[in-house]
Amino acid sequence: MKIVFPTYYKKFHCIANNCKNNCCSAGWEIDIDNKTLNLYKNTSGELGKKLKNNIDYYKTPHFKLEKNGKCPFLNNENLCEIYIKLGEDKLCDICKEHPRFYEYFSGIKEGGIGLCCEESARIILNETQPFSTYEITINDKSCEHYNQNIYDYLHKARQKIIKYLENTKLPILFRIRDVLWYTHTLQQNIDFNLLDDENIFTVNTYSNSDLKPILEFFLNLEPNDINWFKYIKKCINLIDIYNLKKLEFENLNPEISLYLKNISIYFIWRYFMKGTFDKDILSKVKLMVISISILKYLFFCKWIENKNINFSDYIEIVTKYSEEIEYSEENLSALEKISYDLDIFDTEYLLGLMQ
Ligand code: SF4
Repeated sequence: MKIVFPTYYKKFHCIANNCKNNCCSAGWEIDIDNKTLNLYKNTSGELGKKLKNNIDYYKTPHFKLEKNGKCPFLNNENLCEIYIKLGEDKLCDICKEHPRFYEYFSGIKEGGIGLCCEESARIILNETQPFSTYEITINDKSCEHYNQNIYDYLHKARQKIIKYLENTKLPILFRIRDVLWYTHTLQQNIDFNLLDDENIFTVNTYSNSDLKPILEFFLNLEPNDINWFKYIKKCINLIDIYNLKKLEFENLNPEISLYLKNISIYFIWRYFMKGTFDKDILSKVKLMVISISILKYLFFCKWIENKNINFSDYIEIVTKYSEEIEYSEENLSALEKISYDLDIFDTEYLLGLMQ
């Protein structure tokens, strides 16, 4: 089978102890696959003893984290002891693969790198080349159970969307707005079993929507880090200033357009084709729209707070957001469900955010 990656994937290497937000100290449960668990059970010596004492075998076996959320195998130099003593190939699948993600189709697998990692966020935000992909042949299992017509329909639509986000000479929020409307139309086609070809066109919106209720909704989600809620609450207090100073912020920080464009394409690449399996593309594009709105707002809050914003600030905000939202199955499915249930997640309301 073939595997397809964004071209920027080639640039990714874990920066290990140079990473400020090391994923091995983020408090995430690190599950251990069976093959690696057997290997760890049979490891001898001091490391073998440490492995046995630091694995929790209850339900899904995982490493027992320290109180501060750090993996017990991360040494004082922030390097992995298992990697150093046993080698990279002896890491469990999660540690070997993070922050990579995959989606399986028939004869083709898609991959990428996730925004929760500071090195991949740096690569994705900084990418100045138009989005492109490359493929290689691998041995892997295929996923055969889906409707090929839907797959073909969405595959073609995704190409159109990425091209539109990449090339159109409109401000990035307008491009995203048009993509949202296009997806809304495609979703209706899918719902009525009419896989008609559609074009993306410029939508006129007449009303501005308020971001505040969406930010407040985020306080109902499950936090990974308890400080996240405090941070969001603090930012909500700046919403009135945002409405006054949004344009000044955009003019003084034009790099934001590139970052938002790259992030929007990342979301499309990562989530859109999942619609092949559940026939729901609208909630995936709404996730992108909401994420773009919130990230832009959080960039603004940092700019207000520091009277400036630099590249590390952008990376810190993006990785934190991704960690809290994308890397929580619970939060992702809450957002997916709510995107059809609450008025503030209606297509019309979200169109009004893209001004
Ligand atoms: S967050 Fe990314 S760069 Fe940092 S340690 Fe984890 S994989 Fe490596």
